[in-house]
Amino acid sequence: MFYFENDFKNIGEIFSVMNVDYDDLLKRALELLPEKRTVKSRFKPPVVVSFCQGNRTVIKNFKEICETLRRDENFVAKYFSKELAVPVKTEGGILILQGKFDEKSLNERLDYFIKKYVICKECKQPDTKLESEGRGVVVMVCEACGARSTMGV
Ligand SMILES: [Zn+2]
Repeated sequence: MFYFENDFKNIGEIFSVMNVDYDDLLKRALELLPEKRTVKSRFKPPVVVSFCQGNRTVIKNFKEICETLRRDENFVAKYFSKELAVPVKTEGGILILQGKFDEKSLNERLDYFIKKYVICKECKQPDTKLESEGRGVVVMVCEACGARSTMGV
């Protein structure tokens, strides 16, 4: 038998003549589509939650930030201290900064930190770790693409 497309009102009719369940076919076709890669969207950059107390600023979720970025708390604390040119101290998962800073500027610093110390320069993935090579030389090693980039700290 030979059918022309115009002989049928819709594609479902064609399949019904062919004795194929259209819904079933569609379902199977969708199952065959490659799964969406979720790797790229998995990383959500952390956002600073902070408040001022007297003349000091507290980053409430400091520990979570460091855990998300997989960076040492002391390393991140040192970065903030250097960037803002104030003494800081960690205490039970929070970071206390000397001086008043608003969330916006703290987040700008954090974004810069992520760009510089977390995101791979080659593949732009956050799956990196820092390795010390001694004498202040730190190497960022990417677990996603294997790139190594040297950086001074
Ligand atoms: Zn990479």
